[in-house]
Amino acid sequence: MIYRCVNCGGNVVYEPQVKKMKCLSCGGNECQEEQPSQTPDICVNCGAQIPFKKFDSAGRCPACGTYIIRDHMVANQYKPDLIIPFKISKREAENRLKDEFGKKLFLPGSFLSEKTLEGMRGVYVPFWMYDYNTNINYSAIGTKVRTWTSGNRRYTETSYFNVYRQIHVNYDGIPVDASIEMDDAVMDLMEPYDYGQILSHDNKFISGFDSETYNMSLGELEPRAIRKVDRSNREWIAQHTSGYTTLTKENMNADNRNVGNRFALLPVWVYEYRYKGENYKFYVNGETGKCVGKAPRSMGKAVGFTALLFGSLMLGLDGLALVLGVL
Ligand SMILES: [Zn+2]
Ligand SMILES: [Zn+2]
Repeated sequence: MIYRCVNCGGNVVYEPQVKKMKCLSCGGNECQEEQPSQTPDICVNCGAQIPFKKFDSAGRCPACGTYIIRDHMVANQYKPDLIIPFKISKREAENRLKDEFGKKLFLPGSFLSEKTLEGMRGVYVPFWMYDYNTNINYSAIGTKVRTWTSGNRRYTETSYFNVYRQIHVNYDGIPVDASIEMDDAVMDLMEPYDYGQILSHDNKFISGFDSETYNMSLGELEPRAIRKVDRSNREWIAQHTSGYTTLTKENMNADNRNVGNRFALLPVWVYEYRYKGENYKFYVNGETGKCVGKAPRSMGKAVGFTALLFGSLMLGLDGLALVLGVL
């Protein structure tokens, strides 16, 4: 389907800067209507065949430039539940990349030139979001060491504690990307997204962008969600056992009970740059503007990759209840 302008017949797309639909021809943002596709993968506007890949759910007609949504890839089992719409416009994404990579490094003249930047694409990446109710049980022997001097003697006192912690955590929407093509490490680095800004899905948000439906199942990806939860569980325990000098005989078990799942689309700007026969990919988080990428190898060091933190998980936490055991 396409969104067509009622005033002039032009293609209407979602405009991140104004958070509205906008006609590419007349600039109007009032009246648009959905025009469903009659034949799959044939451009509704010009009739050209569109070379969609298997899991693509939206993209641009190479012949006339119209943004097409593949009706059958956003319906039934492929209908997304949630979406974070693009907030960063293409122009802003370009500026972020220039700031992050252009100014810090001596880069070839063609890098980030107006012409090469034309190829920058806004892509909605499919994610599964998992909810868990988790009970963590932890026990250990803890010590606290105190030393002092009295007269000409030095004293050391070691106190021993049986440490018990029982923590209940509700994880609300642990995100795992469900795209084979999108590098898992890159997507982890793109985080955090502000999941507080997530909305119910509406196809309008993907008009004007490329989009992919999930190409890995909920069950297939659950081990990755569980790994994230387990990492976060350990963080919670570490936070609540910080006062001890040592902790030995640690024993921890957690039951992560899956209580809900949703299919979501998250926005990423993708910029591919070809230099001396090699392809380099740069990414800008379409919501926050965070840049991830690697400068051409000839320029030396890689930049932009930051350590993977737990921030996203913390954001995903909801209704934390603590039951602290006795010391
Ligand atoms: Zn128009
Ligand atoms: Zn076309």
